[in-house]
Amino acid sequence: MTAPTPAAPRRQIFVTTALPYANGTFHIGHIMEYIQADIWVRAHRMCGHAVNFVGADDAHGAPIMIAAEKMGKTPEQFVADIAAGRKQYLDGFHIEFDNWHSTHSAENTALAQEIYLDLKKAGLIERRTIEQFFDPAKGMFLPDRFIKGECPNCHARDQYGDNCEACAAVYAPTDLINPYSALSGAKPELRQSEHCFFRLSDPRCVAFLEQWTQEEGRLQSDVANKVREWIAPDENGKPRMGDWDISRDAPYFGIEIPDAPGKYFYVWLDAPVGYLASLKNLLTRRGQDFDAYMAQPDLEQYHFIGKDIITFHTLFWPAMLKFSGRKAPDNIFVHGFLTVNNGQKMSKSRGTGLDPLKYLQLGMNAEWLRYYLAAKLSARNEDVDFAAEDFMQRVNSDLIGKYVNIASRAAGFIHKRFDGRLGEIAPDGDQLLDLLRAARQTLVGLYAEREFGKLVREIMALADRVNEYVDQNKPWELARQDNMQARLHDVCSTCIEAFRILTIYLGPILPRVAKAVEDFLHTSLGRFDAVDQPLGKGARIGQYQHLMQRVETAQLDKLFEAPAPNQTAAPANAAALCGEALAPTIGVDDFAKIDLRIARIVDCQRVEGSAKLLRLSLDAGETDASGAPRLRNVFSGIASAYQPEALKGKLTVLVANLAPRKMKFGVSEGMVLAASGDDKTEGGGIHILELGAGAKAGMRVR
Ligand SMILES: [Zn+2]
Repeated sequence: MTAPTPAAPRRQIFVTTALPYANGTFHIGHIMEYIQADIWVRAHRMCGHAVNFVGADDAHGAPIMIAAEKMGKTPEQFVADIAAGRKQYLDGFHIEFDNWHSTHSAENTALAQEIYLDLKKAGLIERRTIEQFFDPAKGMFLPDRFIKGECPNCHARDQYGDNCEACAAVYAPTDLINPYSALSGAKPELRQSEHCFFRLSDPRCVAFLEQWTQEEGRLQSDVANKVREWIAPDENGKPRMGDWDISRDAPYFGIEIPDAPGKYFYVWLDAPVGYLASLKNLLTRRGQDFDAYMAQPDLEQYHFIGKDIITFHTLFWPAMLKFSGRKAPDNIFVHGFLTVNNGQKMSKSRGTGLDPLKYLQLGMNAEWLRYYLAAKLSARNEDVDFAAEDFMQRVNSDLIGKYVNIASRAAGFIHKRFDGRLGEIAPDGDQLLDLLRAARQTLVGLYAEREFGKLVREIMALADRVNEYVDQNKPWELARQDNMQARLHDVCSTCIEAFRILTIYLGPILPRVAKAVEDFLHTSLGRFDAVDQPLGKGARIGQYQHLMQRVETAQLDKLFEAPAPNQTAAPANAAALCGEALAPTIGVDDFAKIDLRIARIVDCQRVEGSAKLLRLSLDAGETDASGAPRLRNVFSGIASAYQPEALKGKLTVLVANLAPRKMKFGVSEGMVLAASGDDKTEGGGIHILELGAGAKAGMRVR
């Protein structure tokens, strides 16, 4: 990657990340991939290249259809609800997709059907009758994951149809002993069905993939080696790569196959087509022509993915594109998994995972994570570990200690002593700045190669040189000597210019900091070639504002705190009742702690100075030391719904053992129960619990 000069053309680049399956929120692995791709995209833009960066939800398939049914939603509503939750993560971590779309879209339907028909024209689609388990109670063919039974190998019970969790054996669902449907419990029947296959074993596909996957400079070497094994013929010279079953029978949430009514594309066929659909949606909205864009001979196409989906992206996807007469990707960039705190397997219930939303909700800085992940990522397909102490060390010592502090040390003097204007830079300062400027090509190259870890080390080594310069010149000592004011101005100006250059280099990783520094220095830092355009003598800079706080141990403790045990018992996708999520499950002992009593509303008054509260005097059957009835004083926020007179004499329910609460108007000795909803809807507002006649004040409610 080189910055374009008049001789170097602006490259046209199309970039995607893998499409997340729309049956859950983002986990930290998604966020890592998006940050990796976002940094790469920003770096190319800072070279002046034209990049379209898109993502989408992978919205189809049986698991979504079944999950939606369980929640009493349509699949459309289910995936729309998931999609609505995406923005807070993407915005929160400064991940700037140009478009976020869905595979459940008009563009994707049209493109998937076109690609299929083109593959058919090329003679690569075949129909075959296969035998598959059918759930007679649900009236549908069962995906492997929804068939359970006894493992044919170790005889463990209740194992899935594709592999055994007890002994790790892999088998076909038809091998299970006493199989049953995980959906209905019914005994599944083997039934015949006609399926569509993409003929990946066709010699044309094999020849193309042998060449495409092994081309110099294409796939990462370990990925290319793995793929070579999959493509190589077996010992009998037969293709090892099987044909790919691309259809599923109705009922299925997906895209119908145009010449096979009642049959749908398997979710993995239309998922990668979603890359093109999202791009098409973006270009159409911009008034650009999708076909013309894709037809550009020098268009580059890259997909960032995790190591679990290599087959789909290095075999099926390039072959689908190539033989439907489309452009195959230029490259597939594979990353490993993210482990947390020394490779402990991520598990939400044990609290060892890193919940990205919790990270944001705790007010932790998104750029800490961007910087840390960049420091750990390389171009290799290897796992990355998030280690809490390492994270704190790198952010506090390197990012803040070495980089941010350069500005905070120099800017004050420029303001206090030199009216906020930069001065002349002496030869020794220029020497330092030359060293920084000379690193540009190397650093830009490391961005292009996705060697972010090396890149961060190089930038921090440059920051070390700047800090050495500061320590040698000691501006705080120069400031005390009247005859050294010119030197002080020179040294601080050098520091500000060095800080400007380092900020440009870190720009793709720290976009918010870069923006703040642009405001602080009154300049644009959006291109790498701005490195060679110093602010210069006399340039006025703004007041230094704190750019970044340090990470605190307490924040990390909170981040990795295991959720309370009663929270883990709640289903992951708890149902929303009347628009409000079901609270975590509690045991009967938890419920018994709440002492609910019948109380008679003896008196009820408005509270002067409060539009919300009514003061209730409640008889809950209590007496004082002399045996006289003791009334409870309770404030209740129901004034908007009730006239005081209307409540007098009614029986309601009191939380009798709630700790008394001191309020502005007096002490509230408990709480009465009321239902409340959105008061804009019919039946909304507040409804106090009322009991029919016959119940006695003081009775316990269980
Ligand atoms: Zn087993």
